[in-house]
Amino acid sequence: MVISDFIRFGSRRQVLRLMSAGCLLGATVAGVGMQAQAQEQREPGAVERRYRTAPLGYDKTPVLPGQQWKVHDIARPRPEVVEPGTFSTSDQPGRPPSDAIVLFDGSDLSAWVNERRERRRRGEPPAPVQEVPAEWTVQNGYFEIKAGTGSLVTKEKFGDIQLHIEFMTPTEFEGDSQWRANSGVILMKRYEFQVLDSYNNPTYADGQAASIYGQWPPLVNASRKPGEWQTYDIVFEAPRFEGGKLLKPAYFTAFHNGVLVHNRKEAIGRMAHQVVGTYEPHEAEDSLLLQDHAVKVRYRNIWVRKLKGYDER
Ligand code: MG
Repeated sequence: MVISDFIRFGSRRQVLRLMSAGCLLGATVAGVGMQAQAQEQREPGAVERRYRTAPLGYDKTPVLPGQQWKVHDIARPRPEVVEPGTFSTSDQPGRPPSDAIVLFDGSDLSAWVNERRERRRRGEPPAPVQEVPAEWTVQNGYFEIKAGTGSLVTKEKFGDIQLHIEFMTPTEFEGDSQWRANSGVILMKRYEFQVLDSYNNPTYADGQAASIYGQWPPLVNASRKPGEWQTYDIVFEAPRFEGGKLLKPAYFTAFHNGVLVHNRKEAIGRMAHQVVGTYEPHEAEDSLLLQDHAVKVRYRNIWVRKLKGYDER
């Protein structure tokens, strides 16, 4: 019986069965054909791509030395999620990461005060430091040092931090060596990361831009030209004291314009000029200070992240 006879004499159900079988056969043949074609097109040695699942952790693995956690421990807390920021361009400051404490976003100096000390005659005891509302000039998304108004100090105090700060040295020079755009990012009001125009401006190595002032030169000089925005990304570990003694020194890890300039280098002591700086016990947290060295420097896009230990939330 040919198909036309079957269609003519067969029941409606039999006809439908035959047609669906035909479709299935056709689809199978087509599928095999496509598979063969795909195998022909696959690169030699390529692995077939398919969705796979994996364990979320393990609980019968060995304990990691010095840790409370096992290898791939399923119970180990997952790190906090942070939305990353964006990088700056010469025209536009980037966006800080979501957990950053923003110290200057281009609008105002509400996170800062100026620290001022009256001048006394030589031989007289130094005047007490006064905190006054910040007076440095804010304009066009940056602020500029107003010489003689005193250093700028954060209201909030910090210990271990990641710090991002951008600065621009002026194209009109007010001097050379240490008088060319001298300022400083001074952690805990004691440990200076030098700000200077070090583009074709010879000075002593441990006093140029990105030096740990008076102690360690940067590993390389990654300075940009005056009039261009530059970045410092600093990881600072605060010193620890116990019973009036130094337990652990301060450490700097730092990048200047994205180039590594310090690789967890210890500070010898607090910043000092022409003498060796030493440590004196102080609080676990203190303000970040921007130095007024009586010359103009601009700053923008300043933020910090307080650092936590592993597995801390
Ligand atoms: Mg300085």
